[in-house]
Amino acid sequence: MKIIVTGGAGFIGGNFIHYMLNIYNDYKIICLDALTYAGNMETLEPVKDNPCFKFYKADIADRTAVYEIFEKEKPDIIVNFAAESHVDRSIDNPGIFLHTNVIGTGVLMDACRKYGITRYHQVSTDEVYGDLPLSRPDLFFTETTPLHTSSPYSASKASADLLVQAYHRTFKLPVTISRCSNNYGPYHFPEKLIPLMIANALADKELPVYGKGENVRDWLYVQDHCSAIDLIIHKGRVGEVYNIGGHNEKTNLEVVKIILKELGKSEDLIKYVTDRPGHDMRYAIDPSKIHNELGWLPVTKFEDGIKKTIKWYLDNADWWQHIINGEYKDYYEKHYSKK
Ligand code: NAD
Repeated sequence: MKIIVTGGAGFIGGNFIHYMLNIYNDYKIICLDALTYAGNMETLEPVKDNPCFKFYKADIADRTAVYEIFEKEKPDIIVNFAAESHVDRSIDNPGIFLHTNVIGTGVLMDACRKYGITRYHQVSTDEVYGDLPLSRPDLFFTETTPLHTSSPYSASKASADLLVQAYHRTFKLPVTISRCSNNYGPYHFPEKLIPLMIANALADKELPVYGKGENVRDWLYVQDHCSAIDLIIHKGRVGEVYNIGGHNEKTNLEVVKIILKELGKSEDLIKYVTDRPGHDMRYAIDPSKIHNELGWLPVTKFEDGIKKTIKWYLDNADWWQHIINGEYKDYYEKHYSKK
């Protein structure tokens, strides 16, 4: 079995590559990644000499490059993680989100049609459903919740989902889609909430929290996400969407306070900053379908996952220090220092 994993130098794609190479010793895993600011070859360092692993630097929207890789490798399965993934960056520069998340998805599926595959899997997000009011904790997103996006990021991901469903209906492409809640764990780029707070707390820097920190997210340990995708690509029904979530809802402020407590740091480090425009209030996934059909359940409790994550950041300081001392520094100054 040959699997092309796009975006494998990023957070979830990188974890997925480690996960798959660990479980299947007869699979060939091919990473295709453009190495944008979010792609990091250090994430793939542990597998780079594995004979079952291969890497191509390419943009998923570059048709010539993508077709050449398909022609050469003749993959069975494609798992598309490649994306521009940060909501704040999509507010600064929506165009690149359309290029990668929409056009790139189209090019990949055209390659699948041309060369033939057994499964194209699109990694999507619960953000395509919009948000839920804080006053209705009884509401959850199901796979039939209408798409209702808030940011250029979520709009580009929803557009990609619609294109994937259209390729299934029109061209009979064997697709599946998963929509996942917020992930956390090793190799998470330090612009996202949990790694940003860990890195700042360790450096005794202020912890910037949007608004009053009331926004609720449903946190899923990244390895639980990987196990869900592994099940879907092997046993999921073609043409279906599967929601993946942990029933692990926390406000951003709760998460920040847990991190400070774990690290023995003072809550005085918290600094409330101007809220993000259009900031979604609450995301909450109903994962009953994947549980009932495929028997998937997350195994990592938030209390354990956050401890493992903090330990990983303590043990792998070089990995994130290289990032925060590089080009990312200017982005951080622009976004958080003047508020
Ligand atoms: P990430 O930003 O950490 O990684 C994205 C990767 O894609 C990087 O390695 C980058 O170099 C690569 N990439 C970007 N543009 C590319 C292009 N044009 N061609 C090839 N490669 C390109 O993202 P992530 O957090 O790992 O998210 C992976 C996927 O999961 C995304 O599709 C995202 O929408 C989805 N998702 C993420 C979360 C989350 O909590 N992080 C939750 C739900 C869904």
